Amino acid sequence: MPFRLILIGPPGVGKGTQAALLEEHLKVKPLSSGVIFRQEIEADTDLGQLAKSYIDRGELVPNGVTIQMMIKRLRSDDVRRNGFVLDGFPRTVRQAEALDVELQNEQVVLDRVILLSVSDEVVVRRLAGRMGCTKCGEIYHSTNKPPAREGLCDKCNSQLLVRKDDNPETIRERLRIFREETAPVAEYYRAQGLLKDVDAAGDAVDVYALCTEGLVS
Ligand SMILES: [Zn+2]
Repeated sequence: MPFRLILIGPPGVGKGTQAALLEEHLKVKPLSSGVIFRQEIEADTDLGQLAKSYIDRGELVPNGVTIQMMIKRLRSDDVRRNGFVLDGFPRTVRQAEALDVELQNEQVVLDRVILLSVSDEVVVRRLAGRMGCTKCGEIYHSTNKPPAREGLCDKCNSQLLVRKDDNPETIRERLRIFREETAPVAEYYRAQGLLKDVDAAGDAVDVYALCTEGLVS
């Protein structure tokens, strides 16, 4: 039976790693809102053009556009067949409500919403040294996951950039904003009995065991 999961957690908590483990073991499709945005923009779809118009003006992509992009992907055959693990969506209660409506229409239910938490210090340590691919979005780390060739993406050979906002002060501010923004979404799912709190400070494999505890028999 396909699983339908959501990962919630601040940048640097290890969501990408957990999504990859969930894909490997449960065969679910990882659906990262950031990746889907980039794909739509690159494919120059109507939704992609619309999203880009906001991004180019330095504005947030509105709820309605984000919801349409994610729902379009949720309706694709491979996602219907294999289930999904969402990352970066829903970011607001309005998005969570829209997702609920969509899942009801599709007559499927969420299995679990995983809230990954670690201390700010751990996140700062993990994020300092992080580099992102300017083309495909793949993330590298100077010590944990260095690229084969310095400054170049292993996957697509494009240039890697250290993000300006990956310095300790900005990271702490991003964490504060993240908690403020996502707390209502976490509580929304807690009220539905779907939320699983996971301490994400340990090894990826231990964290994975906590994430899937009681889910697979
Ligand atoms: Zn790349």
